[in-house]
Amino acid sequence: MKYMTAEPFRIKVVEPIKKTTKQYRQECLKKAQYNAFRIRAEDVYVDCITDSGTSAMSQDQWSAMFQGDESYAGCKSFYRMEKSVQDVFGMPYVQPTHQGRAADYIMAQIYAKKDMYAIGNMHFDTFRGNAEVMGCIPLDYCIEEGQKANQDYHPFKGNIDISRMQKLIDTDLDKLCVCIMTVTCNNNGGQPVSMKNIREVSELCKANNIPFVVDSARLAENAYFIKIREPGYENVDIKDITREMFSYAETATMSSKKDGLVNMGGLFVTRNEDVYHQANQIAIVHEGFITYGGMSGRDMEALAVGLQEGTDFEYLSYRVNQVKYLGDRLKEKGIPIIEPAGGHGIYVDGKKFFPQIPQHEYPSQRMVVALYEEAGVRAVEIGACAFGKKDPVTGADIFPELETMRICISRRVYTNNHLDVIVEALGDIYKNRASYKGMRLVYEGPIVSLRHFTAGFELIK
Ligand SMILES: *Cc1c(COP(=O)(O)O)cnc(C)c1O
Repeated sequence: MKYMTAEPFRIKVVEPIKKTTKQYRQECLKKAQYNAFRIRAEDVYVDCITDSGTSAMSQDQWSAMFQGDESYAGCKSFYRMEKSVQDVFGMPYVQPTHQGRAADYIMAQIYAKKDMYAIGNMHFDTFRGNAEVMGCIPLDYCIEEGQKANQDYHPFKGNIDISRMQKLIDTDLDKLCVCIMTVTCNNNGGQPVSMKNIREVSELCKANNIPFVVDSARLAENAYFIKIREPGYENVDIKDITREMFSYAETATMSSKKDGLVNMGGLFVTRNEDVYHQANQIAIVHEGFITYGGMSGRDMEALAVGLQEGTDFEYLSYRVNQVKYLGDRLKEKGIPIIEPAGGHGIYVDGKKFFPQIPQHEYPSQRMVVALYEEAGVRAVEIGACAFGKKDPVTGADIFPELETMRICISRRVYTNNHLDVIVEALGDIYKNRASYKGMRLVYEGPIVSLRHFTAGFELIK
């Protein structure tokens, strides 16, 4: 075990990345109105804005792509992918989609109902958006420990609060249309959900006739955490764990851009034949024919292989431990992060990092800007800008509990040397933290609910 921490692969193809000067980066920031999404990728040295669609593919994936069958209907690539999906999910019916949000759309069309509640641990934004458009009310019922930027250890901060859910069932059962468990829980840092919680939530749903769905972009990382943290699973294979997770659900959606180890694609998977036929109908209109649903044959080939590689224990061990490495090194510098480290990134606590900057002056966004300026590293704000709202009556700002900068780690892309750059740069900023002032939001863009993609800022002098 002594030598297990190195990558379980070696590098065959390289992609050059550019080093720039601080002055150059200050110009880039100004042009981008201090919004990381508006910086050109080529001006970024280490890109940690997301782990979505940014994985490096393997030689087996690239060679499988050459076998892509681009027939409109019934192509070989679909059947190869279907077999791989059935193997990981243990569910029979597979409808591909062009990416995860299209699967969310289909799921919302089938399960979300007007003026009714969709309960979950923390709904991902794309389902939330789809549900809200339909007049359905999404409710986040994640356990207390998972809700705040708190440092207390809990092995499964993505769990649903069972007693709160029971209370809702007692008072409002007729208003509950669906329960959606997101694994891992993206919005609080990629925190896992335990098998026990999945089982108990599913039993509660079954007893009350509520359909149970799993939003499973990071299903393999969740299974890895179950294996290493949940008693009784130490010796169970990752795929036996994923299959057990899904055995409790009727339907699953997946953004393949995460644990599928591909750059594009999504899945709608179910064990309910009737639901599958409804999904086919919606897919035909919005995505494409049943056997491609917006994906090309070569993309389905890459996913067929990627799902198998993504559920490999050696890979997952490397993956999760690389993220933990970054977290541990930041902690050594005294930098306040959310603990324990999640599966796909590290969240730095903006309020603790810059205590002098009030939340309405965007402390986490200030950290994103400082990190890019210092080292060309691009992270993303998950805080006052991304999740801030306006009170519909008074117009007053409502700020989220979680005020963080997320450093996402792409799969199989960066070495620990790249992560050390992040640690050194953030360490220097932290040393000089008292000299930083906040930011002013000067432009929200056309879509207020997702304003972090388009917003513009100024530095407060
Ligand atoms: C990324 C993600 C989605 C949306 O998927 P896209 O492929 O980006 O459209 C939905 N749910 C979860 C949990 C995700 O992480």
